[in-house]
Amino acid sequence: MSKRNPPDPASGAAIVRQVRARGIHDPRVLNALARLSRARFLPPEVRGQAQADRAVAIGLQQTMSQPFMVAVMTAELALAGTERVLEIGTGSGYQTAVLSDLAAEVFTIERHTTLSLRARGLLDGLGRTNIRFRVGDGTLGWPEEAPFDRILVTAGAPTFPTTLFEQLAEGGLLVAPLGPEEGQELTVVRKQNGKPVSRTVLSCRFVKLIGAEGWDKD
Ligand code: SAH
Repeated sequence: MSKRNPPDPASGAAIVRQVRARGIHDPRVLNALARLSRARFLPPEVRGQAQADRAVAIGLQQTMSQPFMVAVMTAELALAGTERVLEIGTGSGYQTAVLSDLAAEVFTIERHTTLSLRARGLLDGLGRTNIRFRVGDGTLGWPEEAPFDRILVTAGAPTFPTTLFEQLAEGGLLVAPLGPEEGQELTVVRKQNGKPVSRTVLSCRFVKLIGAEGWDKD
């Protein structure tokens, strides 16, 4: 657990119980979840749904991912604490907070200004100092800061995200939901000798990744 980031006084104990019951045992991931209040990242009108193990609407037709999915994606990133991580889809900032606890630096991109500003306000308020925020099309990555050791895409991509893969360091991991709008496969891609080596983890359903290398705007 990072000393840099002060613990959130509200506890994530209920979330930890749920994801553990569903087979997540990675102690670093469970610790990071335990230190966060999911409710804090939800708009007041839906805060009552914070303990439910499902995605919750956060406005602008976007959702905060299901805790189990946050846990699985984070575990698949296999973070040791030294990594520079690029996250596409800041959304509520909950996943960003988890990453900021387990990695050295987090670069997070969101296409909706309102969501990005809300997340930034929350994470600044929690004293998280190792996160950089950007508003824009995350499918194009963050070339000035590349390469990244890990890349996490938290919206469903219709095709393999080539530009993001180019911004991945050799030996690095990219985790993304890939496939049609109705349902995707959570996919882990390793860059090995410059080439992608992929495996799928589970079926999932995320909101659309919208951008130059994603879906067209609705
Ligand atoms: N990790 C977030 C998930 C939010 S849902 C959370 O748990 O709260 C996915 C997010 O991706 C949405 O906020 C959506 O606006 C954003 N998004 C979709 N396409 C994007 C793109 N091309 N670049 C950046 N963000 C994008």
